[in-house]
This record gives sequence, C-alpha cells and structure tokens, in this order.
Amino acid sequence: MSTRLKVTDLVKTYGDNEVLKGINLEVQNNEVVVIIGPSGSGKSTLLRTLNKLEAPTSGSIVIDGYDIADPKTDINKVRENIGMVFQHFNLFNNMTVGENIMLAPTELKKSDKTAAEKQAKQLLATVGLEEKFDARVQSLSGGQEQRVAIARALAMNPDIMLFDEPTSALDPEMVGDVLEVMKTLAKQGMTMVVVTHEMGFAKEVADRVIFVDDGNIQEQGTPEEIFDHPKHPRLQDFLNKVL
Ligand code: ADP
Ligand code: MG
Repeated sequence: MSTRLKVTDLVKTYGDNEVLKGINLEVQNNEVVVIIGPSGSGKSTLLRTLNKLEAPTSGSIVIDGYDIADPKTDINKVRENIGMVFQHFNLFNNMTVGENIMLAPTELKKSDKTAAEKQAKQLLATVGLEEKFDARVQSLSGGQEQRVAIARALAMNPDIMLFDEPTSALDPEMVGDVLEVMKTLAKQGMTMVVVTHEMGFAKEVADRVIFVDDGNIQEQGTPEEIFDHPKHPRLQDFLNKVL
C-alpha cells in the first residue's frame, strides 16, 4: 500500500476559534475513508484544507509527495489530481451538461475537443445519464446535477476524490442514485475521502470510518469497530442520535 495523503498536526483557526486542533490522518491508495461527526465539528474545514481551499494555520499536508503548504508547490497541478464534490453542485447554469464536463479538461489539460467529448459521454454513461449530454443544467433534478458534478470531477482523471456531504441537499428519492455512483467508484479502486451522514453507505463502503468531534479525530476504525463497538462516549452519543 502506498500513502496518497498524509496530514500531520493540522491546526486551523478562524480568529480565536480553533476549528481543527491537531489532526493526524493518512489515506492509502485505493482506500475509502468516511468521516462522520456532528455539525460544526470541522469536517468541511478538514476537507477544504486538503486541496487548499483553506490554508492550514499550522501542520503539514502531503499529497502524492507534494507538500501543499510549501509555496514552491504548484497547487493548481496538485488540484488537477484531486476531484471535489460539494453538497451544492456548483455546476455552471449557463452551459450544457456536456460543456460543464468538458470545461476543465479542454482548458487545463488541453485535451482536444473530440477526445473531451468522447470522455464526457463515457462519464455520463457511468453515472447513468448518457442521454443528458446536450441538456441544460436547469432541466436536471438535484440528483442528476450531483451525478453530473461527479462526472465533471472525474473528467480530470483524479487520483483522489473528496466528497463533502454530497447527498445532504437532495430529496430522499435522489440519494440512492448518487450513493450508487460513489459505490461503483469505490469498487473501481478510487481513493476517496467522504464526509457523509449516510451511515448505511459508511458501513457498506468504507475501509475506515473516522469520527471527528470538536476539531479532533476522537476515534477511528473499521465500520464494525465504529458502529458495533464504539468506545468514545461522544461517538456512542452521536450514533444514538443518527442511527
Ligand atoms: P462541519 O462541516 O463539521 O459541520 P465546519 O468545518 O463547516 O464543520 O465548521 C467548523 C467550525 O468552523 C464552525 O464553528 C464554523 O462556524 C467555523 N467556520 C467554518 N468555516 C469558517 C470560515 N470561513 N470563517 C469562520 N469560521 C468558519
Ligand atoms: Mg460540513
């Protein structure tokens, strides 16, 4: 196993609010890590520091050997290999589905239009939306938009995919389709870090579950360890509330 991501003593403060209090985390190639924890515990902040949407206050983050806090590191190059999917889909509404997916590959990696189009159609097929290539974003349901957002992130051929509550804003009947796409990705060996409240997904798909509370990793383990034998009282309390 090789390490894709290594976080050491990560601290993030906003003013005098210390949101991350010294996170240590390693993610191995092909591993699926699911992060759970109460609202406001720092999960999104942790994910956002991983591709430097937020700068760490102290500590280090090394991704595929690149220290992303090092000013000499070209963060845009690192980001090309990290796909990110948010709660809100952030698609460009003034473009078609196909144009959304082709945008980054054609602009950043300069793949030609024919190749980008072929890839976009393949990706749409993998998320179950092959007929939507020419559709306008406004015509999609929330669940379809989120699947397009996943396809768009995959278009850069990332090594790691980060998901921040990708199903939290969806109507219940849309959640399953999105989780199914994520399951397929995991089976294909994608390295994934997923923040979610979908405990069924965590149980089924995670190699490791991490419980974050109050800016720290309070407990981590296999899904069995975390869900069937939680040790930390706060984790027990959290599970009692969500399960
Ligand atoms: P979670 O994703 O676990 O719900 P967040 O990482 O979003 O938690 O937030 C953790 C804490 O950091 C909260 O107290 C939140 O108010 C604070 N916070 C998050 N982002 C910012 C920001 N950009 N500026 C100031 N405070 C922030
Ligand atoms: Mg969050």
